[in-house]
Amino acid sequence: MSLKVLKFGGSSLSDAHQFQKVAAIVRAEEERRYVVPSAPGKRYDNDTKVTDLLYASHAAAVKGEGFDEAFARVEKRFNSIIADLGLALDLTAEFDTIRRNIQNGASVDYAASRGEYLSGIVLAALLDFPFVDAADLIFFTESGAVDDERTYEAFYELTKKHDRAVIPGFYGRAADGSVKTFSRGGSDITGSIVARGVRASIYENWTDVSGFLVTNPRIVENPRPIDVVTFRELRELAYMGASVLHEDAVLPVKAANIPINIRNTNEPDHPGTLIINNIRAASSSPITGIAGKRGFSIIHIEKDGMNKEVGFTRRALSVLEKHNVSFEHLPSGIDTMGFIIQTEALAGQGETIAREIGKAVDADEVELISGLALIAVVGRGMVRAKGIAARIFSAVARANINIRMIDQGSSELNIIIGVDEYDFRSAMNAIYAEFFPQD
Ligand code: ADP
Ligand code: ASP
Ligand code: MG
Repeated sequence: MSLKVLKFGGSSLSDAHQFQKVAAIVRAEEERRYVVPSAPGKRYDNDTKVTDLLYASHAAAVKGEGFDEAFARVEKRFNSIIADLGLALDLTAEFDTIRRNIQNGASVDYAASRGEYLSGIVLAALLDFPFVDAADLIFFTESGAVDDERTYEAFYELTKKHDRAVIPGFYGRAADGSVKTFSRGGSDITGSIVARGVRASIYENWTDVSGFLVTNPRIVENPRPIDVVTFRELRELAYMGASVLHEDAVLPVKAANIPINIRNTNEPDHPGTLIINNIRAASSSPITGIAGKRGFSIIHIEKDGMNKEVGFTRRALSVLEKHNVSFEHLPSGIDTMGFIIQTEALAGQGETIAREIGKAVDADEVELISGLALIAVVGRGMVRAKGIAARIFSAVARANINIRMIDQGSSELNIIIGVDEYDFRSAMNAIYAEFFPQD
């Protein structure tokens, strides 16, 4: 029988009502057999995530301050979930152990991981599934990477023993035997490893939006969800700021060719977004998504005939290397070249670096332009469709916005434009409206 792995994010498990929705989703299909919960997240805007309460408890303990208050909030969150669900479950002994361990100097990773651990125990009781600790399944090497061999061996053993299980997200076991977490948002990674480990047919990632949206909902009002996106497109979009899924969550399932389905716990009938490997998959629009970020600068270099000069780029690059600065893009023409760099990475040295580059290549002119936003228009359909770039440029021009930079990736998967930061919002909206007019 095909089987599905489901990961539920913090907002999907923020209170008893959300736990009930999760249980209904799992029970709706017999294939939904391995479930990865996050720690309870925010119930409302100003609420605090259980994970943050645990970080706060640990920080207070390290300072030798009392952490009863923060820890009591953790206990209260879980106790009210258990009571509202009507479960005959008592976590007192677990709370005591965790409190004692934090008091006695347990690591910050241990403290932070307990949100997922407890959430897993509650969800396992609710579903009547076995609880299997992630520290007995996911192993890290000395260097902190996932130890694939040990990990997937453990999953092989797991599937022989349990045909269903709840496995807490966010953590595993370090080489020294202690608990180690992934970086924040890391339950997405656990879900991906579990999906690969049990050879799932699909990895369902349940969150609070009906899929990966075409663009950032904080910049464009009510953008529509993407129905299908490839792993490579997703990577381009995520790199430019579209974050729904932890970026390290893609690798394990991509290697095993398991699609990810982003779904909404609060709208379970919505098909959400399917993330797949196949770059040739049909797409209804030439554009899959639009993502963007503020905070970039360009070092713009002009020199007649630079394209004929052997070693020109290397000389310019060696200045960046000397200052330990990496660049994001390098659009170039016959007599011009521009290094696009994150303004933060210049650490206030932008003018100096520009001057040094000017000297190193004997430029006719060098200019530092800061206050730039980059917008990536991404789509696997772009290779075949003609005139996409023209549509982007004219949409932006119609909004009276000046394009400062254009770069088309060699993969023809994206076109990147640079605009002044104060034009960012309007440019994103103009591009969105061009390709996704209101029906
Ligand atoms: P979870 O707690 O389920 O892991 P996250 O908060 O990590 O959920 O991720 C979901 C959030 O990502 C959404 O609520 C939304 O605010 C944000 N987000 C940012 N960019 C996008 C996008 N392009 N599409 C959908 N959601 C996005
Ligand atoms: N609970 C952890 C966090 O808040 C992990 C996760 O939610 O994925 O970062
Ligand atoms: Mg998340």
